[in-house]
Amino acid sequence: MNDLRGAVALSHLLLRERVRAGDRVVDATCGNGNDTLLLAKLVGPGGRVWGFDLQERALVATRELLAAEGCLAQAELVRAGHERLGEYVTEPLAAVVFNLGYLPGGDKGVVTRPVTTLRALNAALDLLLPGGILLVAIYTGHDGATEEEKAVLVWGSGLDPKAFSVWTSRQLNRPPTAPYLVLVEKRRNGA
Ligand code: SAM
Repeated sequence: MNDLRGAVALSHLLLRERVRAGDRVVDATCGNGNDTLLLAKLVGPGGRVWGFDLQERALVATRELLAAEGCLAQAELVRAGHERLGEYVTEPLAAVVFNLGYLPGGDKGVVTRPVTTLRALNAALDLLLPGGILLVAIYTGHDGATEEEKAVLVWGSGLDPKAFSVWTSRQLNRPPTAPYLVLVEKRRNGA
């Protein structure tokens, strides 16, 4: 069990709680593949994880990681913006993960952006199963991060509470600039 330090650790705890073998799930920002790997392990060979990234470098890293862990068979890695999610995925999803910002150690010019992030979040909500969760790790350090953060918070605040439960989770004993998590659950008995 990992320490609960930071947004990604909390997101992994929630994924372990909710994602089951055989589920369909999406990693909307593969990056170095850490979230994709966890999802691939949780869904197992009978499940499916779609991983999106704009950068070939990210997909190569993710593919290598999954192959090394014997999880590649249940993964479909897509070089496309997550805003095009609906073109690639039509199956109901148990979980969707976003890790905003840039690829650690990569090109800081390739970052998630408010318009495409919102388009992808809406596409993800459309596909989410009742009881399904959408997790967004919000970063504050990249170009345009403040606008993106505001856009996600306004979007989340506007979701109908009869249909969705929306949370933010911050680690209080870290600087206010530390990454934090937004969680959306599609309610099982929602509107
Ligand atoms: N989850 C990753 C991990 O475990 O290493 C970290 C993700 S990193 C913070 C953000 C990633 O989003 C980068 O690899 C970047 O290329 C990707 N990205 C930026 N805009 C994107 C978009 N529109 N669609 C998909 N991926 C995008």
